[in-house]
Amino acid sequence: MTTTTEAPPETRSFEADVAKLLHLMVHSVYSDKDVFLRELISNAADACEKLRYEALGDPALLGDDGPARITVTLDPDDRRLTIEDNGIGMSEAEMAEALGTIARSGTKAFMDKVAGARDAEGSQLIGQFGVGFYSAFMVADKVDVVSRRAGAESAAIWSSDGLGTYTIRPADLADAPPRGTRVLLHLKEEASSYTQSYTIESRIKAQSGHVPVPIFVKDMPDAEPRQIADGAALWTRPKAEISAEEYQDFYRGVAGQYDAPALTLHYRAEGLHEYNVLAFVPETKPFDLSDPDRAGRMKLYVRRVFITDDAQILPRYLRFVRGLVDSADLPLNVSREMIQESPVLAAIQKGVANRLLSELDKLAANDAAHYLELWDNFGAVLKEGLYEDYARRAQLLGLARFKTTASGGEWRSLGDYAAALKENQTAIYYATGTDLDRLATSPQLEGFRARGIEVLLLADQVDSFWVTSGVDYEGKPFKSVTQGLADLGLIPLPEGETPAAEASDAVNGFIAFVKTALGDAVSDVRASDRLTESAVCLVAPEHGMDRQLEKLLAGAGRIDAKAKPILEINPRHALIARLSEGGDDALREDAAHLLFDEARIADGDLPVDPRAFSARLTRVLDRGLG
Ligand code: ADP
Ligand code: MG
Repeated sequence: MTTTTEAPPETRSFEADVAKLLHLMVHSVYSDKDVFLRELISNAADACEKLRYEALGDPALLGDDGPARITVTLDPDDRRLTIEDNGIGMSEAEMAEALGTIARSGTKAFMDKVAGARDAEGSQLIGQFGVGFYSAFMVADKVDVVSRRAGAESAAIWSSDGLGTYTIRPADLADAPPRGTRVLLHLKEEASSYTQSYTIESRIKAQSGHVPVPIFVKDMPDAEPRQIADGAALWTRPKAEISAEEYQDFYRGVAGQYDAPALTLHYRAEGLHEYNVLAFVPETKPFDLSDPDRAGRMKLYVRRVFITDDAQILPRYLRFVRGLVDSADLPLNVSREMIQESPVLAAIQKGVANRLLSELDKLAANDAAHYLELWDNFGAVLKEGLYEDYARRAQLLGLARFKTTASGGEWRSLGDYAAALKENQTAIYYATGTDLDRLATSPQLEGFRARGIEVLLLADQVDSFWVTSGVDYEGKPFKSVTQGLADLGLIPLPEGETPAAEASDAVNGFIAFVKTALGDAVSDVRASDRLTESAVCLVAPEHGMDRQLEKLLAGAGRIDAKAKPILEINPRHALIARLSEGGDDALREDAAHLLFDEARIADGDLPVDPRAFSARLTRVLDRGLG
């Protein structure tokens, strides 16, 4: 037996979510394992950028270890792969925090998403989520991380086989990098190709060729390092010299996505403020687009030094844009907090957002099909701008596209809508709901259809908000087809059709009867000019809240009581005509309630009292048979 002077390293357990995630990685559900390399190199580059930033205030941190670099060492004999950086490094406590937990919110959502994702999607999700480090366990059955924080006099080593626990213990300074982090992967047998120079070099060039730190490869542990990527800032090079592939690789690096950019915007602003912008609109939707915590992720650089990705360079409704701004005139030594107050940043924010919107305008004009793909993905987010950014509202309305009753499933602009206005039409009509198909068949649309009036079909959550925020388009207000009086009488019917007569006394009598029967459940019952086929529908009072918005808010617990709807009755409907002829009051009473419930069901709601509804329906059917 040997005695040790050192206590054995303390074994710690991973946070539950990490353990689950690791289980996925270890059992490696993804065929695209190259992801791990991109993730570890991106961490190494981040660490170098963090050091560059911290050293602005404390140059001593740099010590005498030269400029930032990343070194990848291959060891085919022992089947090992090492990724080392001379960046900021981690203290023991930082390691436990960074490599034992998942810091960002939304982990649960990630796990759900990943568990249900198909192969290719799953490996793409890793990069988007800030769980990149753990992807090392797709290819390694043991990972050691030795790290020394810049300026510290101690180092620590983290080790794990990814099976639920890890250890952290102090490391000998002689075995640690002078500053920074060394990640040592003990590769699984089936991952041995990651010790081949050719494989590593081609993967790194393809995935990480544009990280802002030079990358070296050592083909053997004692070989001379050779540089395979120069770490030059792509965005400072002239546009004409950059190929589409280079843009794409760079995009994949900043976006953490594996698709191609749908739109690339690269320019240099000159004049009062000088800055470079390299921004991309992705081709596919990031999975967390609607997550309220996910603000934009445009990075801010000052003269090539990465400062923060939290400067909110773009408004929230442009949060799907990825990329960076590199400013020539922000002071380098300003704190991240102070940057927020800087008038230079304000000018950048305004300039970049304006430029992006005008690029979108151009795309819409020059390549409509391409623009519509982009709208399909991000339109719902852009529309948030309609109520969050009044100053750019008109421009955003110009960019907006809609499905309408006249579009046959295609997208239409408000310009298209305005060109098709009917004589005397003074409003832009819309219907809101949660499902386009159901919206298209709502009874409230019938009268509009009969007159050939186009109605916007709005099925995104955000629609209920902007459309009720006092917006207008070229002087025409937006008006809900389910709210207030339709006033369709002013708009002429197509030739050959005769306008409906006023409701007869008999119908008015029935309306009064229904009103008494329903009592408090409705705020009014009246004859409708918006129905042609259905017998009844519900609408909101003229000055009440849009019914769809009201449902959303009530569902979210933001309002207590809903306003009582108005029941509109189609005086031309055969059933209404017969009920108006009088007859058995008990039957008419049942009919009043059933009509109300029918209108609710058409709106996607339940009958007021499902048991009473069933009883009435049974009674009425029974009579019908008898
Ligand atoms: P993310 O990079 O999105 O934060 P990761 O899972 O890739 O998520 O890494 C988790 C954290 O581990 C990082 O935020 C960082 O704090 C730390 N880390 C990982 N690799 C390094 C490294 N090479 N140097 C310093 N810190 C690192
Ligand atoms: Mg990472």
